[in-house]
Amino acid sequence: MTTRQDAVIIGGGHNGLVCAFYLARKGLKVRVLERRKVVGGAAVTDEFHPGFRNSVASYTVSLLQPRVIADMGLYKRGLRIVERPISNFLPLEDGGYLKLGGGLDRTQAEFRRFSQADAEALPAYYDALEGVADVLRDLALKIPPNPGGGLLELLKAAGQGRKIAGAGLPAQRDMLDLFVKSARTFLDGWFESEAVKAAFGFDAVVGNYASPDTPGSAYVLLHHVFGEVNGKKGAWGHSVGGMGAITRYMAEACEEFGVEISLEAPVAKVLVDGKRVAGVRLESGEEIAADVVAANVGPALLYRQLVDRADMTPEFARRMDNFKAGSGTFRMNVALSELPDFTVLPGKEVAEHHTCGIIISPTLDYMDKAFTDAKAKGWSDEPIVEMKLPTSIDDSLAPPGMHIASLFCQQFAPVLPDGRSWDDEREAAADLIIDTVTKHAPNFKGAVIARQIHSPLDLERKFGLIGGDIMHGAMSLDQLWSARPVLGHGDYRAPISGLYMCGAGTHPGGGVTGAPGHNAANEILADRSVLGRLFRKRA
Ligand SMILES: Cc1cc2nc3c(=O)[nH]c(=O)nc-3n(C[C@H](O)[C@H](O)[C@H](O)COP(=O)(O)OP(=O)(O)OC[C@H]3O[C@@H](n4cnc5c(N)ncnc54)[C@H](O)[C@@H]3O)c2cc1C
Repeated sequence: MTTRQDAVIIGGGHNGLVCAFYLARKGLKVRVLERRKVVGGAAVTDEFHPGFRNSVASYTVSLLQPRVIADMGLYKRGLRIVERPISNFLPLEDGGYLKLGGGLDRTQAEFRRFSQADAEALPAYYDALEGVADVLRDLALKIPPNPGGGLLELLKAAGQGRKIAGAGLPAQRDMLDLFVKSARTFLDGWFESEAVKAAFGFDAVVGNYASPDTPGSAYVLLHHVFGEVNGKKGAWGHSVGGMGAITRYMAEACEEFGVEISLEAPVAKVLVDGKRVAGVRLESGEEIAADVVAANVGPALLYRQLVDRADMTPEFARRMDNFKAGSGTFRMNVALSELPDFTVLPGKEVAEHHTCGIIISPTLDYMDKAFTDAKAKGWSDEPIVEMKLPTSIDDSLAPPGMHIASLFCQQFAPVLPDGRSWDDEREAAADLIIDTVTKHAPNFKGAVIARQIHSPLDLERKFGLIGGDIMHGAMSLDQLWSARPVLGHGDYRAPISGLYMCGAGTHPGGGVTGAPGHNAANEILADRSVLGRLFRKRA
């Protein structure tokens, strides 16, 4: 071993940086080892074409925990998050459109164009969602109880259960609905208009390789509303300078507390001595000794590639072989000579509908077909596309008068059927996505100057996301809370003493939240405390 650290973090994604920050703030000597040339993982800004920069993977912010923002001084360092004036614009199949957001009264007025009953149902729907989202918010920075962990864990479970028990029967019913029902069954219980159901149902398939008819898909919808922007609950916003601004300021906060960040330093192996972690070996051959190793990489990568099978029980290794990863996401960045001119709302000058999430996915049936087609053929002729036009809010990202588009597309098979390879088919899928937008904005295809393509395989290779899973693993009930990544290890501790998980593959899951990094650091520090040393069975 060439050097010794108190803690080594495998991966400099935002959660790795958050974990490093909290450990260093308590005086630990911490080194972050990042495989790529930049920190930030899936939260980075890149010049994808000369003069055109964009958030190349994640592209919109809401879930980032206010406590993490405050502790790392992100606003003080320059972070600015601009709220979307309205949340979404959906061009529809019949030549109409629906706009979502901008306040309750306005959304109700919009819904009235589709259904008086849906407009009337909206306040109660928002209240129901908000009631459950509040419970989620409360749990985000809490450590899930570990079944079989003894009295302490029982008390923890009781403490966390109190909030749920105190929520009252209607909220408990809503919670049960959201956790187990399909998005369609859940939304059918509230609304009658297909357009309204599509507007809300889209959140259920974001990063979720599933149909809105899949049981449990309603939870993914909920996962996308537990955040906030500048104190406004449920809102989504744009990080000025792109998502990379967030992680650049996080890295700055880390370095202020002495964290050493090594780029182009891929870890090849987690080193284990007996039943305890000993450190890591880099692909360069360098070995670094550490009492604590925290993995920011997802569980599928950690346990299938970086930990030797001999260092896990066969039962645990089998579970990790079966950990579900593959979100069915295809992501493009496009440089544009002009803004898309929508048939339903003509105009190339920045208008409200350019500044929000533009969703091409007009009904739940469309979403269901996108998934079933993807399972059969790899993707659908009518794919789900969300487009964001960051330059409509932030002109720092492209040359004057030019624009960029983020295209977030769902239901592209993580692995193509019949042995086909994404390397052969990524261009064809990209063409289809451009054509899909062009159907609604006829000038779009002609305005494309350059495009950057990320098929599921590209996401895996570039960002280390196994199966291209943007959440580090499916957000299904069997992989949530105490069971993320697997029951018995939902408390950030791996089955090897001194090895921890601090990425999106742990509670509360995917998204730019900072929560897993924060929570893992708390557990690492707890284990190093006097009480921790006395009472913890593992670590
Ligand atoms: C295409 C896409 C769109 C998304 N859109 C949004 C969005 O709009 N809003 C939102 O909130 N969330 C979004 N997400 C989800 C969110 O970005 C991720 O869930 C989150 O960034 C995960 O953060 P993390 O720090 O846990 O892991 P990651 O960001 O995945 O970081 C892990 C780090 O580990 C590094 N690494 C991998 N292997 C090694 C190794 N062997 N050695 C050393 N380092 C290694 C990687 O390079 C990476 O930097 C999106 C994700 C993707 C991919």
